[in-house]
Amino acid sequence: MANEQNIFAALIAHCKEYGYIFQSSEIYDGLAAVYDYGQNGAQLKKNIRDEWWKSMTQMHENIVGIDAAIFMHPTTWKASGHVDNFSDPMIDNKDSKKRYRVDHLIEAHAELLAHEGKKEEEFALLKAMDELLAADDYAGLKKLIEDNKVTCSVSKTCNWTDVRQFNLMFKTEFGAVAADNPDENIVYLRPETAQGIFVNFLNVQKTGRMKIPFGIAQTGKAFRNEIVARQFIFRMREFEQMEMQYFIRPGTQIEWYNYWKEERKKWHESIGIPAEKLRFHDHVKLAFYADAALDIEFEFPFGWKELEGIHSRTDYDLTQHQTFSKKKMQYFDNDIDPATGKAYGNYVPYVLETSVGLDRLFLTILSNAYAEEKWTKEDGTEDSRVVLRIPAKIAPTKLAILPLVKKDGLPEIARELMNECKSSFMCFYEEKDAIGKRYRRMDAIGTPFCVTVDHQTKEDNMVTIRYRDTMLQERVPIANLKEIVLKAIS
Ligand code: ATP
Repeated sequence: MANEQNIFAALIAHCKEYGYIFQSSEIYDGLAAVYDYGQNGAQLKKNIRDEWWKSMTQMHENIVGIDAAIFMHPTTWKASGHVDNFSDPMIDNKDSKKRYRVDHLIEAHAELLAHEGKKEEEFALLKAMDELLAADDYAGLKKLIEDNKVTCSVSKTCNWTDVRQFNLMFKTEFGAVAADNPDENIVYLRPETAQGIFVNFLNVQKTGRMKIPFGIAQTGKAFRNEIVARQFIFRMREFEQMEMQYFIRPGTQIEWYNYWKEERKKWHESIGIPAEKLRFHDHVKLAFYADAALDIEFEFPFGWKELEGIHSRTDYDLTQHQTFSKKKMQYFDNDIDPATGKAYGNYVPYVLETSVGLDRLFLTILSNAYAEEKWTKEDGTEDSRVVLRIPAKIAPTKLAILPLVKKDGLPEIARELMNECKSSFMCFYEEKDAIGKRYRRMDAIGTPFCVTVDHQTKEDNMVTIRYRDTMLQERVPIANLKEIVLKAIS
């Protein structure tokens, strides 16, 4: 049984042992902050992505989904500001040569203070950091680090360089022909999916005859050369985002900001994340174009951290693309403005963005689902299990079908049930090992229902259904089984 401190390490080991997440290219000792999803992980990730996609595109008549390419014209990233501004303040330790993101370094020190019970010092440090970051005061940040005697975790010294900016975009070369100017061949791996939506704004608006307000949703890979990639899949160099840009009339942004803030929190709760483990965190430092921004934070095993961002981005992105591409990014609004009695007319829409990391959400679901349980049985002996209490509607496998023994016609009945159910939801068939052992394996994978076919089944057409969360078992008619599972996952 793991204690509070190492529960996160236990979860990481569990993910590997049960086919959820593997280190990328593990046989070559892995690649830092890049991970592969195994057979159960890929299915869980898909189920979460499908839930999000459905909630956006199917449940909102005015939101449609697209799938834009990862490579985009390089000017996209000039226009979006990523070439010039997508950087984090970094500092290097002169003795160990280890590079840190300044906010991570200070936050880690603040965590140490919190562990030592120095709550006031912790808050003062974080407050000072937020203010200095907001003012882009790099000399002040260095002084804060030195004054607080923040040390490098490797060299243990406080011997720091100045604070500098470091761009997080990955570059690669495009095409096989060498250009006269090598810069001409450079393309970037997109650091966010949002720009694919902005550049397609008019394509979608016109072809879909969309009327404002409307949204465009997209899921897909994004890449950031994170300097300090840590905490497992919380901060990766290759990750997946699920973003939605909501195009609105200027002046309505606060109304929509408040709407989406609540809507997104409710959605997280709808996929089983407890309300008390979610909170809003308003940004102290707003991007210069944003007029409001907040994070929805989750209480991970390593503290409260950002799960999703809600940003009111004004008309910044569309205006930038209009300027750089010299193509109009306007919308003609023929609704009547009550103030003037005339149509609102042409304008560049404002944008409200919701942006959540799929991998971070995956980690949220697993952190919340992972439980190590111990109890005393009726005969006085101890028993224990590790269980993933993943909500049934997103669990990778819904039903395990287990003949008690692999003879006497039981596998045939079980196979028949499998054939009946597998087109409706993900099932798993297993006949090896004692039934108790098979139940434990299904608990560890997070399968909400197991059904056992035994000799009695041949007499009465009843099977035993066993519920993962309560471990209770009951006899039900085999004919009812599909309905029971469908009801639980719908
Ligand atoms: P952070 O402050 O943690 O670096 P951010 O504010 O840069 O995140 P956004 O640019 O707002 O993040 O991206 C939206 C979402 O994408 C984040 O809320 C997060 O869920 C996810 N995300 C961002 N960077 C990463 C990453 N390196 N690994 C995994 N998910 C990420």
